[in-house]
Amino acid sequence: MPSPFSRLSPALEPHTQLAEPSFDTKRHVTYWLRCLKTFLPNVYTANDSNRMTFAFFVVSALDLLDCLVPHTTAAEREGYAQWIYHCQHPAGGFRAFPGTDFGDRRSAQNECWDPANLPATYFALATLLVLGDDLERVKRRECLAWLAKLQRPDGGFGETLVNGRIEGGSDTRFGYCATGVRWILRGTVEGPVEGVEDVNVDQFVQCVSLSETYDGGISDAPFHEAHAGFTYCAISALSFVDRLPHGAKTYDQNAREDDRPLAGLSDLHATIRWLASRQTATLDDDDEVDTNGDETDTPSTCHDAHTFVRLRGFPSEQGEQSYKERPTSHLDLQWAGFNGRCNKLADTCYAFWVGASLDVLHKAPIASRPRSRRYLLDRTQHPAGGFAKHPGDPPDIYHSYLGLAALALMREPALKPLDAVMCVSVAARRCVDGLRWRRSIVGEGGGGRGEEGEEGKGEGVTKGTERTEGTEARGGESRPAAPSSAGTTASASDGFAYMAISGG
Ligand SMILES: [Zn+2]
Repeated sequence: MPSPFSRLSPALEPHTQLAEPSFDTKRHVTYWLRCLKTFLPNVYTANDSNRMTFAFFVVSALDLLDCLVPHTTAAEREGYAQWIYHCQHPAGGFRAFPGTDFGDRRSAQNECWDPANLPATYFALATLLVLGDDLERVKRRECLAWLAKLQRPDGGFGETLVNGRIEGGSDTRFGYCATGVRWILRGTVEGPVEGVEDVNVDQFVQCVSLSETYDGGISDAPFHEAHAGFTYCAISALSFVDRLPHGAKTYDQNAREDDRPLAGLSDLHATIRWLASRQTATLDDDDEVDTNGDETDTPSTCHDAHTFVRLRGFPSEQGEQSYKERPTSHLDLQWAGFNGRCNKLADTCYAFWVGASLDVLHKAPIASRPRSRRYLLDRTQHPAGGFAKHPGDPPDIYHSYLGLAALALMREPALKPLDAVMCVSVAARRCVDGLRWRRSIVGEGGGGRGEEGEEGKGEGVTKGTERTEGTEARGGESRPAAPSSAGTTASASDGFAYMAISGG
C-alpha cells in the first residue's frame, strides 16, 4: 500500500477514481491515549504554559472519538477535573497551567506573575463540560466580574488583567473566548446577572465589524488582511452573543433585512464568498504553479485567483465553461484542502476554521466535503495517528484535533457530531443546557444558541457508553467535552490563539 503521503502520479488520468479513503480510528485513539497518559514529545516542553490548551485538545479528541469513558476510569476523569480546578484563580478565571500558583505564598507583590488567562478560562470550562462536570465549583460571579474588566473601551477583549491593566492581544480570538465564557456562565442574557455587570455586547459587535475586510473576511484589526482563524472566531463569537445577521440562519439570500441591534457581519454574502474561496487545490509547494494566462488557468487550478479577483462573479461563467471544456490532468480535483488566506497552501487546520465558519452560517454545502475529506485522509492523516499540518509533516496536537473536528463536521461515521461554535461534541454542548444553576439564570430556553443545525439534532447524546455513565452520575443529563489555552504572564501568548493563527 502506498504511503498516504505519496504524491499524485503525473501519469494519473483525468478524473481517475481513487479508492475511498478510510479514517483509521484505531491509530487515532492510540495517538490521543498516548498524549493523555504518557509524556508529550520534548518539542512541547516550551509549551508547558499552554497545558490547559493541550488538556482541552486531548480530552475533547477522545470524546469526539467516543472513547474517553471506555479508556479512562471515573476516578481518572475526576482527577482531570480536579487538576483544572486547581488552576482556578482565586479572583476568578483560570490559569493556563499550575506553574504560577504560589499557594500560601501568594502576595500583593507577586500576584502580578499569576494572572488568570482568558483563553485558558474558556478551555477550562469546555474541558470540564466534556468531562461531565456540573461547573458547580466554578467561581462564577468572580469570573464574570473579571471578564467585564478584560474588555477594552473599543469593545475588544484582552488576555490577562495585571495590576488592573489589560494585557495581551485584542483580536477576535479573545473575543471568541470571552463570549464563550459568558455564554457558558450566563447564556445570552444581557445586563447584570446575580449583581454582576455584563460586558458591553454592542461595543464588542461594533469592534468585530471594524475588522471586516473589503473582500468579506475578518482580520485581527481594522485594515489588516483577512484570515480564516480570525473569521471563525468572529462568527462564532457573534453566535455566542446571538448577533449573527438573520441571513446567517437561512439559505434564502433574499431574507429580510436584519432588525437586530448592531448585528455583526455587514455583508454576509461577501463573507460567505470569501470563505468558499478558501478551498484550494494548492496542497503543497509543488502545486504552487503560476497559472496566470496559462491554458491551465481554470477555477480548478487557480481557485483563489478567480474568486479573489472576481468577487462579484464567483463562480465566473467564463471560468466554469473553461473548466468544463478543458479539465486539467495534473491537478484534477481529487483532493481539495482549505487555506487561511488568499494564495496560501492548504493546511489541515483550515478545514476546521473555514468549514466550521460555513457551518455556523448554515452554508456548509457550498464547500466540497468529499474532496476536503479525501485531502485530510489521504494527505495529512498520519500513519501513527493524528494529523499533520501539511503532507509529509509529523502529526501535532493542534492539527490532529482540528483535523478530527473538521471530519466530525463532515459527519465522519467514527466520530461524534461536532458543535461548530464551541468546537466540542454536540453532546458536550448540550450539557450546558442541563446545568441546574444555569437554568435559574437563563430560564428553560437554555440561553440562546439553541439551534445546532439539522445535522446535529438527535445525535451524540445517546451514542457510546459514556452516555450511560454520565446519566448515572448526573441524574439523567448527558455530558459534553472540553478545550485549552495559555499564557503565564502579561506578555505570554495563549495557546489556542497562537496556534490558530501561526498556521499560515
Ligand atoms: Zn494549521
